[in-house]
Amino acid sequence: RAPLLGGAESDAWTVHFLGAQRRAAGEDIILLSIGDPDAPTPAPIVAAAKAGLDRGNTKYNDLQGQLGLRAAIATWNEKLTGATVTPEQVTVFSGAQCALFAACQCLLDPGSEVIGFDPMYVTYPATIAAAGGVLRRVPLDPDRGFRPDLGALEAAVTPRTRAVLMNFPNNPTGAVLGQEDLAAIAAFCTRHDLWLISDEVYAALVFDGRHLSPLALPGMAARTVIVSSLSKSHAMTGWRVGWTIGPPELTPHTVNLALCMLYGQPGFIQDAATAGIVGALEGKVAEIASMRETYKARRDRACALFKDLPGCRLHVPTAGMFIMLDIRSLGWSATRFALQLLDEEGLAVLPGDPFGKVAEGHLRISLTASEERISEAAARLRRFLARHRKAA
Ligand code: PMP
Ligand code: GLN
Repeated sequence: RAPLLGGAESDAWTVHFLGAQRRAAGEDIILLSIGDPDAPTPAPIVAAAKAGLDRGNTKYNDLQGQLGLRAAIATWNEKLTGATVTPEQVTVFSGAQCALFAACQCLLDPGSEVIGFDPMYVTYPATIAAAGGVLRRVPLDPDRGFRPDLGALEAAVTPRTRAVLMNFPNNPTGAVLGQEDLAAIAAFCTRHDLWLISDEVYAALVFDGRHLSPLALPGMAARTVIVSSLSKSHAMTGWRVGWTIGPPELTPHTVNLALCMLYGQPGFIQDAATAGIVGALEGKVAEIASMRETYKARRDRACALFKDLPGCRLHVPTAGMFIMLDIRSLGWSATRFALQLLDEEGLAVLPGDPFGKVAEGHLRISLTASEERISEAAARLRRFLARHRKAA
């Protein structure tokens, strides 16, 4: 029996839930604590769901996912990664989280080791453990833009290593990998005959340059499983639409899990997802077309405001939805800092600690508010720091 999410992982969202509760009660709380786009799901997507309901797409469905949606995902994936896949390689799951769970169930045996990078998204340890896997953490280096130390990767491999699990653009650091790092990880996986699970939920939000996926590297299609979703790219976190893309021989296994866990996904939601992807590909959904620019502008504004906060070191993200602020020199625990910041200033940000050792003593600040609110957040943080500096 795998451990429930507990301790560090569940603590991660305490500040968020406290803040959300207070905001719901009418307080002026700024929530920069969760990676949930502040924009509503674009209207054409909602309209497609309604049309799906109207035409009665409410029965059991293709277990692998509607062909039209899988074809759209294949094209969307090609646009993001540059790699060509067929709809047969795609299995639709209930969000990237469910897809990740399925990938781990398919690829790991009890005792299989998985190499993951620290810091990592908080559900990874329990998702791996639920499949009987054993996680080995390799640190990302803050002084090299949170890129991995490839020597440490080599030192982490054992005869039981089955897979590398990576997430670039990265949550929480906003780091991306360059072609060289990617090629080195791919060569590492090939050398040791490992699977590469690549969580690419932030692929559409690369600010500087373009997204690079291991799937596009020579020989890697045979050992790469992409996990992704529409949660971030389409402001659809609550619709729960995600997928795996793997080599064709993996499909019967992912479909078997889609059968046993889900018995397929709701048809009208898949209609909406298809419309969202097709609309984005045709550039017809304005909010999606401008999302990258919106987050980039927020990143720029936030970094300009957070860069010279006394005692704090800012890490400028290249992609994604988050900014990391190193507050270790202030001598507070990040959790206490975040709780007190919410308490005194009505600003909710997450402590980095639950994401792993490398993120300890950092704050993760989401870019999920308007530039005006981000400016107000910076003013609140500055006031908080000034007050406590005086008190110290
Ligand atoms: N992976 C990462 C890195 C995430 O940040 C998240 C949270 N959005 C997920 C997976 C799960 O996303 P989804 O909503 O698609 O389940
Ligand atoms: N992935 C998002 C984040 O990191 C949402 C997580 C969640 O809902 N628990 O904030």
